[in-house]
Amino acid sequence: MKLYSTLDKDIVEIQPVKTGQVSMYSCGPTVYYRMQIGNIRAYVNWDILHRALMYLGYEVKRVMNITDVGHMTSEDDFGSDFGEDKLDIQSQKEGVQPIDIANKYIDTVIEDFRALNILAPNGELLPVGLTHLDIQKYGFPRATEYIQEMIEIIKKIEGNGYTYETDQALYFDVTKVDDYNIFTGQALEEKEVGVREEVEVDPEKKHPADFVLWMKKVGKYEKHLMNWDSPWGVGFPGWHIECTAMSVALLGESFDIHTGGIDHIPVHHTNERAQNIGAFGHPAVKYWIHNEWVVNKDDSKISKSKGTKTYLPNLVGMGFDPMDIRYYLLSINYRTKIQFSHEALEGARNARIAITRRITELGSENGNLLPEFVLKFKDSLEDNLNMSKAVAILNELLRSNNQKGDILATVLDFDRVLGLDLDKVSVKEEGIEDGRLEELLSLREKAKIAKDYQESDRLRDEMYSLGFIVKDTPEGQKVERI
Ligand SMILES: [Zn+2]
Repeated sequence: MKLYSTLDKDIVEIQPVKTGQVSMYSCGPTVYYRMQIGNIRAYVNWDILHRALMYLGYEVKRVMNITDVGHMTSEDDFGSDFGEDKLDIQSQKEGVQPIDIANKYIDTVIEDFRALNILAPNGELLPVGLTHLDIQKYGFPRATEYIQEMIEIIKKIEGNGYTYETDQALYFDVTKVDDYNIFTGQALEEKEVGVREEVEVDPEKKHPADFVLWMKKVGKYEKHLMNWDSPWGVGFPGWHIECTAMSVALLGESFDIHTGGIDHIPVHHTNERAQNIGAFGHPAVKYWIHNEWVVNKDDSKISKSKGTKTYLPNLVGMGFDPMDIRYYLLSINYRTKIQFSHEALEGARNARIAITRRITELGSENGNLLPEFVLKFKDSLEDNLNMSKAVAILNELLRSNNQKGDILATVLDFDRVLGLDLDKVSVKEEGIEDGRLEELLSLREKAKIAKDYQESDRLRDEMYSLGFIVKDTPEGQKVERI
């Protein structure tokens, strides 16, 4: 399989460390807010990669961390070690402990992953009813449970001479890694400009690009809520060390693929790579793979502060099925920017409905896989996840003159990668008793008047499961067969 390797600046053939097995680490959710469309995009893209690798016959060993440690950098201010502690602030705002905030938002991650058919890192769909209590079993390590591993790795880095300590923190000395800026090709001096402010926070910090491995509970962080003992005093780990600790603990000192958003490249992944070299004397990751952003119409990145309207429940509230969102995000290559708009989502919905409509026409005959289509589908996956081509092959298959049963069998085989619930489409077509639809519409009208949006959403979902899409228009509810 070929993928775009950020380090090689080229599309390369993936050659796993262990033949037949791909080990993959994905930077996971930061849990003090609900994820928005930009985050969802990354998880759908890497879910497609995960599923494609399995489809192509690889055994996939995958880990996705959950950042539930107090000190964390938000997606809006990457690179600052002395930034606001979002979990601390959110927990003060909501009047609960940081860990409760983390748990609450882990539950929303589970909800969204479940609704979008995003597989857990262990390859399973998250079961209904799963909560933060059991999430680790599915391949999501929590940073708070790897503090000891982080301390051990920091000790190694320190033992190898890559650190220095100030009154406020233990730092990684970036000048000790020759090719520290390999990702961006920037000279170290160029990095000074952006992070100059931080030097004022800690006057003992030597180079502006040096980053915190362990932050002490002093100064700005004197009242920090989540702390642990360490050889450098009571405090908490820097953000980058968690991914190094968890990836190496669970995948080993050399693993294949590390995924993340392109915003991770200049700081988070640059620092992760430096830490690996500091601890082990060699890089740990063979292929760094990055996804592009979801952007607004003016090309600016959709971020947490602006993106609340793009939370999955909000999009579902606008009448979109989670599978519309999934289809929208998966049909575009991970390296292409996605411009988010209502019209684009509607386009995706129409395309997906056309596919499901055709599938219902196929009936439920049994059949055999069509090898020529399977081969073409595989080729498109192997070609750096050429998903627009994969979707085009699906459509070509649906229009083909092959036996209905064979088409259906092949479509369902493709759905192992697409994850669009195409196997459930025909069930939705099993009739509906007379008057039931009218009854549901009138119940929903009443629920809307009573502003009981939960009930109105539930009724919309019920009609959807019966094969009807309900749209809210200025003239009232309009219903369409899927
Ligand atoms: Zn990470």
